[in-house]
Amino acid sequence: MPSNTSPIDKRRINVHPELLEKIDKILAAMRAISFPMMITDGVRTAEVQHELWRQGRERIGNIVTNADGYNFKSNHQIRDDGFGHAIDCCFLDPNGKPTWSMSYPWKAYSELCMAVGLNHGIKLNSTVIDWPHVELK
Ligand SMILES: [Zn+2]
Repeated sequence: MPSNTSPIDKRRINVHPELLEKIDKILAAMRAISFPMMITDGVRTAEVQHELWRQGRERIGNIVTNADGYNFKSNHQIRDDGFGHAIDCCFLDPNGKPTWSMSYPWKAYSELCMAVGLNHGIKLNSTVIDWPHVELK
């Protein structure tokens, strides 16, 4: 069985159960209007977060985060309660491939996130909306 259809999705490991419960409702609602989505990022280690932080600073690419993973932690990292408090999602195109195209209804996703009491799109120290990102309040 391909890993992306496994009943145990490793992207869900150690994500706060309240966040998983809410994200499942959101993904079901998006699927119901024919816009399937998937979780791309759950918990990140400090090393993975630091690699993201290096993008646009110490290696090529656009800056995508201000959390360096060590001095400044992302909500994707395990918190004191033992869980990650953030998830990133993307859409699936008609071939089932992940897509971040702005032609997909990100606004509907954002509104659903807020409707279930989550914070959506917040990127620290930035006015840019981080469309895939959702986290516990
Ligand atoms: Zn995120």
